[in-house]
Amino acid sequence: MKVFKFGGASIKDAEGFRNVLSILKKFSGQEIVLVVSALGKTTNALEEVVHSYFERNGNANQLLNEVREKHFNLLSKLIPDSSHKVYEELNNTFIEVDWILEDEPSESFDYIYDQIVSIGEMVSTKMLAAFLNESGMKTKWRDVRDFIRTDNTYREGKVDWEITEKKIQAQLVPASKNGLVLTQGFIGGTSENFSTTLGREGSDYTAAVIAYCAGAESVTIWKDVPGVLNADPRYFSDAKKIDHLSFKETIEMTFYGATVIHPKTIKPLQNKNIPLHVKSFLNAEASGTVIDSDMNDDARTPVLVLKPEQILISVSPKDFSFMAEEQLAKIFGMMAKHRVKFNMMQNAAISFSFCADDAKERVNPFLEELSNEYKVLLNEGLELLTIRHYDEQTVQTQTQRREILLEQKTRNTIQLVVRRF
Ligand code: ASP
Ligand code: MG
Repeated sequence: MKVFKFGGASIKDAEGFRNVLSILKKFSGQEIVLVVSALGKTTNALEEVVHSYFERNGNANQLLNEVREKHFNLLSKLIPDSSHKVYEELNNTFIEVDWILEDEPSESFDYIYDQIVSIGEMVSTKMLAAFLNESGMKTKWRDVRDFIRTDNTYREGKVDWEITEKKIQAQLVPASKNGLVLTQGFIGGTSENFSTTLGREGSDYTAAVIAYCAGAESVTIWKDVPGVLNADPRYFSDAKKIDHLSFKETIEMTFYGATVIHPKTIKPLQNKNIPLHVKSFLNAEASGTVIDSDMNDDARTPVLVLKPEQILISVSPKDFSFMAEEQLAKIFGMMAKHRVKFNMMQNAAISFSFCADDAKERVNPFLEELSNEYKVLLNEGLELLTIRHYDEQTVQTQTQRREILLEQKTRNTIQLVVRRF
């Protein structure tokens, strides 16, 4: 079995759907499980719905209607016959959200978020399955919540590997024996049948979970870039494709913030030695990047990773006492409690500084609790720049027009918390 993952950018319009079909045709007759995300930008739009619902600003229904319209618009281009049953299926899925929005929010934000945001993948996969079937490519649609079991950590569901593996072996593996199986990325289900999400951009991880549990031969992530590049083309000019990477190098890159693959994707694949291909859906014949356990070609060129939207928090005791282990344990405890993710840290005699993602909804309550006990300094609007396999030249070029607030170096990696000017 091969697992293919197509992200939102690959199915953002009718042309994208046709392109996916043409790629799948090249693999016809093979056992393929297809993992698909929501249509491009849908998850963001559904997040907006959730925010308005909780802010009670009266816009939630309108925002939801825009998402609904966009889907039906696209559907009418793919399947003009509006009596096709997929129209009703889509309609019913959106109605479930209408029902949620009818009442005042009484459940937790994260729970509601998952019930609403997860429909993006439900509807995109229904549309794609109907389109593929209408185009003569026999496709079985499966509800991923029936086999990826998570706990109820909403917005960050933790996979129950034992149950998930049993269900995938019992349901998905047999289904893939004859023809294409299509399912949703990013979502899972709890033992009580509620939807969970696995974290933003989590569809890659879904592909890895399925591959691991099914013992797949490979995973291919189809993207709008030619493969893994040595720098994110959104932030750096002159990015070059890397033909081959080890799991180790890749997990480091994603840990530092490379968004080409979701960070959680690598572990399950490494654990079963399942190669990961990153290929372009715009040029399916091109070789892309292969990621596996072979470490021989790592470390050839500098790899640049930029994490935007960072804050630097400096904490010191109010009474000039040392920032010792008990203090740090306390601060880490608060971070874990508020699910604040730190990306780099440094300590000194009476201060402890760390760089974290600027996720306001988590950071603000954390800072509030922190300031009760400590003196807290906050710097916002920063970036975390990581250069793996750095050389003088690269560091120099990259630090031009950037003020460095914090720096850390190992033999392999340099990390800089910077402000751009
Ligand atoms: N649709 C989800 C997101 O945008 C999951 C994914 O694309 O992987 O975060
Ligand atoms: Mg996406």
